[in-house]
Amino acid sequence: MTAPRLEIHLDRIGQNAALLVERLGGRGIQITGVTKATLGSPEVARVLLEAGVARLGESRIDNIEALRRAGITAEITLIRSPMLSQVARVVASADVSLNTEMVVIEGLSRVAAEQGRSHGVVLMVELGDLREGIMPDDVDAVARHVAELPNIVLRGIGTNLACHSGIAPDAQNMAELSALAISLEARLGTTFDIVSGGNSANLNWALGDEGVGRINDLRLGESILLGREPLDRRTVDGLRTDGFTLVAEVIESKVKPTRPWGEVHQNAFGAVASPHDLGDAPRAILAVGRQDLDPAGLVPPEGVEILGSSSDHLIVTAAACPAVGREMAFRVDGYGALLAAMTSPFVSRSYQR
Ligand SMILES: *Cc1c(COP(=O)(O)O)cnc(C)c1O
Repeated sequence: MTAPRLEIHLDRIGQNAALLVERLGGRGIQITGVTKATLGSPEVARVLLEAGVARLGESRIDNIEALRRAGITAEITLIRSPMLSQVARVVASADVSLNTEMVVIEGLSRVAAEQGRSHGVVLMVELGDLREGIMPDDVDAVARHVAELPNIVLRGIGTNLACHSGIAPDAQNMAELSALAISLEARLGTTFDIVSGGNSANLNWALGDEGVGRINDLRLGESILLGREPLDRRTVDGLRTDGFTLVAEVIESKVKPTRPWGEVHQNAFGAVASPHDLGDAPRAILAVGRQDLDPAGLVPPEGVEILGSSSDHLIVTAAACPAVGREMAFRVDGYGALLAAMTSPFVSRSYQR
């Protein structure tokens, strides 16, 4: 087996997805299972579908195309606004896309007609986080226009919070989305099949005591993959946080002083070493670094402490020196670490069932 490698525990990820499908289902909410942190892994996608997610969500058209090539036929939503330059690829591979720009939706309509296909549009509404979204007062006019475009089906509306400004989904902004959906449906004389309240940051709200109104969909990635809600990074009740393990190999292992010597300046990443002297201690270097992932998102095994990292080295201390050539497994706890490890060409993958 090569190292560094990411061990992907499909059984645990599947358990998380199934539990969320069941709990949210009880509240009338279906899940769009988001694969973007896995570089659109078909293995993970299949596990999410088996667990009962309504469809898949992906942020990149390249990943959606890869999922199609791998034989995935389920409905897939492109969850980042399509690039105007990519509308033909979006219509060819994605069933639905989240949109905020009329010119893009017109482009989707034009190429959908050319390709003889129909494309679903969910209009994203700005509710305060200030990333993507149409201002609430403008949604009505856009929706009316979209509803008339050939080869476009207005599937519903949605919003995204807690990503750019850290604005929490709460009773108030979710009620606003609900009310907007209800009034649009009345005015357009239609029923939306997707009213998408947000991402993993919506779980506290969705599983809380209050009603969820007209909201019937959440787009979930991090909570399924890492078992956490991203607002306070708390473990969601009953979910597993050990879906991903990073395995790296020891390339140096020696007892060394704990205090560096010589004149102290900035290190490679601009930090200055703290001059603690705890005597001599075992330390080891693992062949993994910031070119592979974000070491801040790793949890070391019992008895091991991470001292630091550079582009290619992870430095740890332990009770005893681990043998050179031995592998060490770290739990991947951070979304950034997962994203980087899944997209690094240096980290291989090993799927565990
Ligand atoms: C990434 C993303 C999601 C999923 O977010 P998680 O926090 O991983 O659940 C949902 N919607 C949009 C628009 C996204 O970009």
